[in-house]
Amino acid sequence: MRRSSGVPMFEKTFDIVIIGSGAGGGTVAKELAPLCSDGIRVAVLEWGPKLSGDEFTGNEVDMAKKLFVDSGGVLTKDGNMTLAMGKGYGGSTLSYTGTSMTVPKEVIDRWAVPGLTHGDVATRAQKYKEENNVHFQPEELLNDNNLLFQKGCRTLGYNVEQFPLNLKGCKGAGICNLGCPNQAKQGTHIVQLPEAEKAGVEVITNCLVEHIGIQEIEAVVENAPFGEPSTWEEGRYLIKAKIIVVCAGAVHSSALLLNSGFGDRLPALGRYLTVHPALILVAEHPHAISNFTGHPKSFFSDHFWRSDGFLLESCMYYPFITAKNMVGFGSDHSQLMQAFPRLQMILVLAVDQAEANNRVEIDGDGRPVVDYTLSNVTLDSLHMSMKAATRIFFAAGASRVHAPAGKRFFIEATQADDIERLIPRNKVVPGRISITSAHLMGGCRMGEDLQTSVTDSWGRVHDHPGLFVADSALLPRANEINPYLTVMALADRVAERIRLDAGELL
Ligand SMILES: Cc1cc2nc3c(=O)[nH]c(=O)nc-3n(C[C@H](O)[C@H](O)[C@H](O)COP(=O)(O)OP(=O)(O)OC[C@H]3O[C@@H](n4cnc5c(N)ncnc54)[C@H](O)[C@@H]3O)c2cc1C
Repeated sequence: MRRSSGVPMFEKTFDIVIIGSGAGGGTVAKELAPLCSDGIRVAVLEWGPKLSGDEFTGNEVDMAKKLFVDSGGVLTKDGNMTLAMGKGYGGSTLSYTGTSMTVPKEVIDRWAVPGLTHGDVATRAQKYKEENNVHFQPEELLNDNNLLFQKGCRTLGYNVEQFPLNLKGCKGAGICNLGCPNQAKQGTHIVQLPEAEKAGVEVITNCLVEHIGIQEIEAVVENAPFGEPSTWEEGRYLIKAKIIVVCAGAVHSSALLLNSGFGDRLPALGRYLTVHPALILVAEHPHAISNFTGHPKSFFSDHFWRSDGFLLESCMYYPFITAKNMVGFGSDHSQLMQAFPRLQMILVLAVDQAEANNRVEIDGDGRPVVDYTLSNVTLDSLHMSMKAATRIFFAAGASRVHAPAGKRFFIEATQADDIERLIPRNKVVPGRISITSAHLMGGCRMGEDLQTSVTDSWGRVHDHPGLFVADSALLPRANEINPYLTVMALADRVAERIRLDAGELL
């Protein structure tokens, strides 16, 4: 045991250490697992715990605490947006919805990362579609909330498509974002991590990495009040590794590298963060609809993607999140919440631009701070999306729509022709509407230029042999559609590079 500033430290040695076990880390672990049979020691260090099956209670408050960083209550520096980041064996794949999209070619073309082609990303995404059992759900399993979205879009002539989903044995519990109680979503906690462990990868949970040095890592193991205890004793650790792969998610990968001093030579570190700013919009139907049983997310519309920079998705959230997202209070708010069995919901994802000033910083205690300003272009997109969603709700038969930036709390069906006036642009103001993000991207973006990127197109950190990034932090711009398959595809690519470079690096 060594001592650092008088504190005893356990010592461990591996060849390869992967930090984080979500979409990126889980993929890298599985892809590098075959190396274990050659005697190469591979470990995954994961901050969060591994939950056992009966801990997925479906209780909103309980699961928020178990699945998300700071119970899902992380705010941007200006307090205008909440950020959902998963934490645990499986990372955000524990709580994601499982919509499984291949990134469009024009997005990869816009990224313009030298050496990265759409063909390569799409081929790798396809591999994970197969591995994760991605398929379309049969129509008889789609609930009213989803079908009403499809109906509204079709009535208006808006393009609408079904989401491919990564499910096996879905029982329609409807609470994907609270962690599936039936283990139906095929996240890394179900597919990639168990396979990696079987092949010899060691996964250490409740292990927070605090610092990365030259071929060494400082971490602390502290068990959570829930989940399985870590396989390592509680305490501080110094871990030697010749290859370090950072997969802590866009915010925490950036923060970890900043905390470790890499920002001095990598000016783009933490910058160009994109988040797909999101709105949850709600309407009331005159009669009960099936909404909180069945998969919550069956359809999306990219009708306004190119023209106005947003996507619309059918969705269904839980009482606390719904209440939090509905601007307003008092009897109107209470009435709408009491109408829960009659509510239809639509999620908006705005496509935000990658701007250097939107970034991850660290505070005096080394904790990440997300400094993100909603641009006028994004606010324009959100404004257009509110009007489009309101039209869809009414076309689907809603009796009234909650208008977060409206002149009044409800817009009644009789006012459907007056949407332009009732949802004015000047009410779409940060801080006045509830904006969330579950798609954190960038901060360690790929590229060639040392001033504007952190890694090359294979996730190798510029000028730091043996140090890789393999998660959502790599995205140089927004993914412009739900991103997890792109994250897995890029992580797969980084793992291939590591296998190729292993002879030299190990
Ligand atoms: C509620 C929700 C719903 C979503 N739904 C979808 C969807 O339907 N479709 C889709 O495509 N995408 C979806 N996403 C987005 C998708 O889940 C993410 O893009 C993807 O998981 C990102 O992968 P990642 O590896 O970068 O990070 P994560 O999957 O978040 O994994 C990062 C891991 O690193 C760990 N970690 C962080 N810091 C440290 C540290 N210092 N030391 C050790 N470990 C650390 C964290 O605990 C976490 O487990 C959703 C996300 C959320 C939160």
